[in-house]
Amino acid sequence: ALKAGIVGLPNVGKSTLFNAITQAGAESANYPFCTIDPNVGVVEVPDDRLDKLTELVVPNRTVPTAFEFVDIAGLVRGASKGEGLGNKFLAHIREVDAIVHVVRCFEDENITHVDGKVDPVSDIQTINLELVLADLESVEKRLDRTKKNLKSGDKKYAQEAEVLERLKDTLYNDKPARSMDLSDDEKLLVRDLHLLTMKPVLYAANVSEDGVADAESNPYVQQVREFAVAENAEVVPISAKVEAEIAELEGEDKEMFLQELGLDESGLNRLIKAAYRLLGLYTYFTAGVQEVRAWTIRKGMKAPQAAGVIHTDFERGFIRAEVVSYDDLVAGGSMNVVKEQGKLRLEGKEYVVQDGDVMHFRFNV
Ligand code: GDP
Repeated sequence: ALKAGIVGLPNVGKSTLFNAITQAGAESANYPFCTIDPNVGVVEVPDDRLDKLTELVVPNRTVPTAFEFVDIAGLVRGASKGEGLGNKFLAHIREVDAIVHVVRCFEDENITHVDGKVDPVSDIQTINLELVLADLESVEKRLDRTKKNLKSGDKKYAQEAEVLERLKDTLYNDKPARSMDLSDDEKLLVRDLHLLTMKPVLYAANVSEDGVADAESNPYVQQVREFAVAENAEVVPISAKVEAEIAELEGEDKEMFLQELGLDESGLNRLIKAAYRLLGLYTYFTAGVQEVRAWTIRKGMKAPQAAGVIHTDFERGFIRAEVVSYDDLVAGGSMNVVKEQGKLRLEGKEYVVQDGDVMHFRFNV
């Protein structure tokens, strides 16, 4: 499963947010492939289309798609130098697909800020500097090796050295690797470095519980937004404390509480959706009377790979897929109508699965 890592300075609300995530937690029986680890929380991805398909098909059960949040506590100033178990935490960040960076946008004199005052942009820069320094070390090490290999005369190394030099410059200027304009080929050359600052980032601006309905007028949130625009990153305002309370409620109680707060959706839902977008993920559906279910794939996956998300046997034995788009199915109202309309397509191995496809796989066992 795909993973987003939660990072941030101490006392910004990471644990509070992470606890809300595990509270809201997904039914783990549905997700046997997910990691069992106290630092990992599995969340279901809210999707209105899944509810609509459930109305249409009336299956025995409905299963949303899920992904994982990993709590990466302990990232502090000096982490790249190995301070405060720093390197261990950086190694954990290396394993995630995206970073959710929690920043403190709430005032509370009872809760110490590590740097003595609330300043979210400075907090971001503190953490980013550690990530940049760690990347710089990886890039310089590799560059030394590549320069030695250059003597072999292989052109590949010349191109690699050129990309590494540019990366080094960028990092020296305190800019993340993701801010660079790299071609797909160039990215491939440095992919195995697993650079931390190449990962997509989302800033979770943790606001106080009383400011949650009007988070955009919070000056700290505005500062984070300004910073994020320049970096091409997303911002989701959230109140970790409120989310922890919401996570304990269900059904109508939850709706009422959200209404009282002036919210139409929990911050956690917005965060999950934003992380999903950030990761560039697509959802396809299977819709049988037993089960209507959403599955996550990466953009560009072909039908057999997409089938492999359900089970490796589906990928190995893939023959064909019957496919109808979500919109066509909803417009038609049932599989039978869609068939009559000729909107159910048979697709082969080269078919690139689209977001919202409703799929049925045929395969050899
Ligand atoms: P972490 O060190 O980043 O994991 O931070 P915690 O989640 O442990 O939070 C540190 C302290 O800040 C705890 O006492 C939380 O209750 C408190 N806290 C977290 N979010 C908020 C908030 O939105 N408002 C206020 N007033 N306190 C918060």
